[in-house]
Amino acid sequence: MIMCNRYLPAPLPHEHLISVLARWFDYKGSRDFLNTTRNLSDNVTTLSPATVWRPVYWDLSQQFIDTLGWKKIIREHTLAPYYSPFLKPQYKSMLLSGGEPLSQTRIQPVQQNLIRLAKPWRWCSCCASEDYELFGTTYWHSFHQLPSVLTCYKHNTVLRSHCPYCLFEYQHLRRHWLPPIDGHCRECGEQEEVVSGDFPQLFQWLESTSFELLRRGLEISNESLIGAMRQKLGPEELPNRLFGSQRKEVAQWQCEFEEWLPDSVIETFYTKGREGLFNNIGQVLRLSSIIYRDRMAPPLSVLLMLKYLGLDSLVTDSLD
Ligand SMILES: [Zn+2]
Ligand SMILES: [Zn+2]
Repeated sequence: MIMCNRYLPAPLPHEHLISVLARWFDYKGSRDFLNTTRNLSDNVTTLSPATVWRPVYWDLSQQFIDTLGWKKIIREHTLAPYYSPFLKPQYKSMLLSGGEPLSQTRIQPVQQNLIRLAKPWRWCSCCASEDYELFGTTYWHSFHQLPSVLTCYKHNTVLRSHCPYCLFEYQHLRRHWLPPIDGHCRECGEQEEVVSGDFPQLFQWLESTSFELLRRGLEISNESLIGAMRQKLGPEELPNRLFGSQRKEVAQWQCEFEEWLPDSVIETFYTKGREGLFNNIGQVLRLSSIIYRDRMAPPLSVLLMLKYLGLDSLVTDSLD
């Protein structure tokens, strides 16, 4: 008889940590996700990929720490590298060090509610088929959860965030917990079509830069990105209050940036329209706040600013 034990299966290539929990639950054969997974961690009520870190990540990571080591866990099995340049420094150093405080810490990216693709778990049908063939299971890939990416890093297929027929989506994992097998929706049974990604150049750039962040973001500092953007714009600093021509100049930057930013990007990646994003309260895409006022912004906003300022290869180049 196989004893029920607390030990998790080892993470598969580029598998998100939470996905390991989902597979462990799947092996158990139970239907009660919350009660079963509580044997493993007390922190299982919210499991969407929108958070960088939660206590449940700690509980899971401790089971692999001796075999994989902290570096590999954080780099390959969480989204921490992608978010890390855009987190408060104390969070970044916590994630790098892997110390005990992480057992009690929740790290949420700023303004994540404005990012459309951050919450639902996403998958690629081709990966799911290959994984099923190779490993006997489907799983959630870290690379598929980047909210500034639309296609699979291996197959260039459009990632799914929900079933196109019944609209079922995975935000928690209580009803269904692993991606569909052979494209058959676990909720309605319909088979989804595989669609190839064919997006404009800006989208493709966002994707390749996002992949780069997930690979090497822990080595990239926010200061280096901000510094380069300041250099492009001109002034090294801005006074607390702007007057006259400087005020006009800053308004002009913002105006040109807003004109440059295509509607398709706003509609695809943000939960609000132009008005909601560019008002004074949101500041999620305000150049002066993010570049001069230490306002933290989602990776997506900073990437768009870099692209607008012609700093296309900065993320790829800046290793410091
Ligand atoms: Zn794929
Ligand atoms: Zn369905």
